[in-house]
Amino acid sequence: MKRWNGWGSDKVKAPLPKAAHSYLADVIGPSKSGPTANFDGLCRRLPKSRLPKNPLISTEPGLRLRHARGQSLPDWIALRFGTIDRFPDGVAQPSSEEEVVKLIAFARETGTRLIPYGGGTSVVGHINPPEDNQPLLTVNMGRIRSLFDMDELSRLATFGAGVIGPHLEAQLRAHGYTLGHFPQSFEYSTLGGWIATLSSGQQALYYGRIEDLFAGGRILTPVGNLDLPPFPATAAGPDLREMVLGSEGRLGIITRATVRISPLPQRENFHAVFFPDWSQGVVAVREMAQERLPLSMIRLSNTVETVTTLILAGQERLVRLLHRLLRARGLGEDKCLLFFAVTGSSGVVRRTRRLALEVARDHGAVYVGRGMGNEWRKSRFTTPYLRNTLWDCGYAVDTLETAFPWSSLPAASEAILKSLSEGLNDISERVLAFAHISHVYRSGASIYVTYLFRLAKTAEDTLARWKRLKEAASEAIVAHGGTISHQHGVGIDHLPWLKAEKGELGLRALATLAKLFDPDGIMNPGKLVKGE
Ligand SMILES: Cc1cc2nc3c(=O)[nH]c(=O)nc-3n(C[C@H](O)[C@H](O)[C@H](O)COP(=O)(O)OP(=O)(O)OC[C@H]3O[C@@H](n4cnc5c(N)ncnc54)[C@H](O)[C@@H]3O)c2cc1C
Repeated sequence: MKRWNGWGSDKVKAPLPKAAHSYLADVIGPSKSGPTANFDGLCRRLPKSRLPKNPLISTEPGLRLRHARGQSLPDWIALRFGTIDRFPDGVAQPSSEEEVVKLIAFARETGTRLIPYGGGTSVVGHINPPEDNQPLLTVNMGRIRSLFDMDELSRLATFGAGVIGPHLEAQLRAHGYTLGHFPQSFEYSTLGGWIATLSSGQQALYYGRIEDLFAGGRILTPVGNLDLPPFPATAAGPDLREMVLGSEGRLGIITRATVRISPLPQRENFHAVFFPDWSQGVVAVREMAQERLPLSMIRLSNTVETVTTLILAGQERLVRLLHRLLRARGLGEDKCLLFFAVTGSSGVVRRTRRLALEVARDHGAVYVGRGMGNEWRKSRFTTPYLRNTLWDCGYAVDTLETAFPWSSLPAASEAILKSLSEGLNDISERVLAFAHISHVYRSGASIYVTYLFRLAKTAEDTLARWKRLKEAASEAIVAHGGTISHQHGVGIDHLPWLKAEKGELGLRALATLAKLFDPDGIMNPGKLVKGE
């Protein structure tokens, strides 16, 4: 069963290797196990539902609790310490577009607020109930998940928006196709959620980000339906898909989406190389991006992330051998790990691998083969399970991400990491912060940062630690001209920094759009744009 207060299936465990325990105790400090609230106890504390009865809506406390929070660190803190105090008044799980229309009509008649819900994997508070005097209804789209249509000649497939990654891929694979959208939350996140948050998959370099994959679809809004035909391209004025991409449930409910699919690749390989240091790695991946090498993934870890990855791998003997080998080839303490993937026909894969290795070697890299890359690929969706284990060991883990032009990326990433590593110095708490470049473009790249710190004794103090770190890093991002999110979206956690990149007029335009589609302010209030 899906964990109600952690990541993923409760059948999947991710034990920490012994070396990782002592590493964390060394760099952050020893810790005691983190708290875990009791599900039944919390269910008993749920306030009475404010919703009038409706056959499409359940007010069962367990279901309401399971839909009350996503996966942000504040969500974890509220769920694990048991301090959660806001819940939807009910949950609907519509099976058809007709039922979604009925739910929107019900909400308009009764003044109920609607929270569209995909897989609940948001890490920025997208699906959290706001403080509100009106009843709140979460609309879980998980039952609208069929493959409605497939146009193989045009390589287009239309799915119900509630389909989760594995089901979408399985249905396409049966016909010899893939969407190729693999966010790390793949197991649980949905097509509708990807569109509504402008998500990016790990192999977006080859398959494209969700905005490249989303060809059209249907969004049911409080004032009518918006149908977006899947044109290959259009010059008929501004592209209306852009309003839906990143709309975060504010305009309506996406019920179906037509996506651009690709044939399953003939071959795909993941490779690993080590650079002598971060700066040489950054130059190399920039050249790969700007030379337009047809790679499907580039993931360059900084030194601290490289060290941490190798320790978490748990293969102590093999890792010792690897260090020895790399030392013999002139790579020391500052080395940085790059995973790159090549996808396509056998000829393209061979040629691209050769070209990528030529660029890497020009910058001092040592190639260590496919073994590590393929291991990384195998475990890429299970890594988030470590969050459960780390919490049990008393450590909080959070991530943040942004993107910069190449010219400002080195200074910006250094400033962000410094803001985190030194963020709790005054209370003598240490923070382990590390980063990787996760997506590359010709003009710049995204930086994905992970940071760990010790849980405090209370939820309040733990949240205060997180707030200080999040604010310091977000200020550093904005000060260096980065975007407040490259792939996670705005939700509530990024709202304070949105003005820095959208400007006053830009924010007004977004608010006006929300008002147009949702005049009564019933759609996911408080997210993306302030107010209703
Ligand atoms: C461990 C982990 C790893 C992650 N890795 C990545 C990653 O690699 N790349 C990435 O981009 N993100 C990643 N994320 C973030 C998250 O998975 C994405 O934001 C994802 O797109 C959310 O999809 P969801 O279906 O879970 O949406 P939810 O979390 O349920 O909802 C997110 C937002 O979308 C809206 N929404 C959902 N469905 C609909 C719909 N049908 N119609 C209208 N609005 C809708 C909701 O109202 C809400 O505002 C990760 C999260 C976790 C926890």
